[in-house]
Amino acid sequence: MRIDVVTIFPDYLAALDLSLVGKARRRGLLDLRVHDLREWTTDRHRTVDDTPFGGGAGMVMRPDVWGRALDEVLGDGADAEPDEAPGATLILPTPSGEVFTQRHAEELASAEQLVFACGRYEGIDARVAEHYRSTGLDVRELSIGDYVLNGGEVAALVMIEAIGRLVPGMVGNPESLVEESHGAAGLLEYPVYTKPPRWQDLEIPEVLLSGHHARIERWRRDQALRRTAARRPEMIAALDGEALDKHDAAL
Ligand code: SAM
Repeated sequence: MRIDVVTIFPDYLAALDLSLVGKARRRGLLDLRVHDLREWTTDRHRTVDDTPFGGGAGMVMRPDVWGRALDEVLGDGADAEPDEAPGATLILPTPSGEVFTQRHAEELASAEQLVFACGRYEGIDARVAEHYRSTGLDVRELSIGDYVLNGGEVAALVMIEAIGRLVPGMVGNPESLVEESHGAAGLLEYPVYTKPPRWQDLEIPEVLLSGHHARIERWRRDQALRRTAARRPEMIAALDGEALDKHDAAL
């Protein structure tokens, strides 16, 4: 997968050299490129913003600078085989976007190229999203939650990590992705424990030492249901009744 990030703070993305994403980059699983938006400015001050039409506080990022940058970055990545579909997706992180979830991560993990346009100030001129949508490009305005950050860089890092770990080969043991929170079961994950078996006078649940796989599986399912009901009742309410077995329904 190819991922491009366009930002006025390329150094913010240094974290992409670390951990699993960094490893995937070095192994060639992720072709990740970070671009400085100011490379596409034309004045000697390398201006990327201007005052908002209609007045008001703050500055807005100019569509002409973004247009030059995105035309080049998107054009540059359009070199995949035609039968490899699904093509490029332009992601505009914004607090006014649809909230990014694991479903988006799963869907976007099969994209051929993802381009993140990181806003700053009061955001990017709205015509940028409108223009690229009108060209037929898949354009997503996505929020990482109901709060406002200073820029789109942290949001891009969050989405790249969530999407990247679903790219085949990225996580060493794909089994570890199966029972995770927000997975196919629609539940939060059960509590997990490791050695030592006793710590700070706290013991691990006895069933986990039983070696009885069916009992362990039942206990984990019950814990996942209880935890989800307590912390995220709306997730339980959204479950399809058929997704609950008889024993679950009796809980
Ligand atoms: N004026 C904008 C508003 O109220 O919707 C907020 C602009 S914010 C200060 C600057 C940039 O940070 C945005 O253009 C976006 O790229 C990024 N950003 C801020 N909060 C975000 C969030 N919750 N999710 C994704 N991106 C966010």
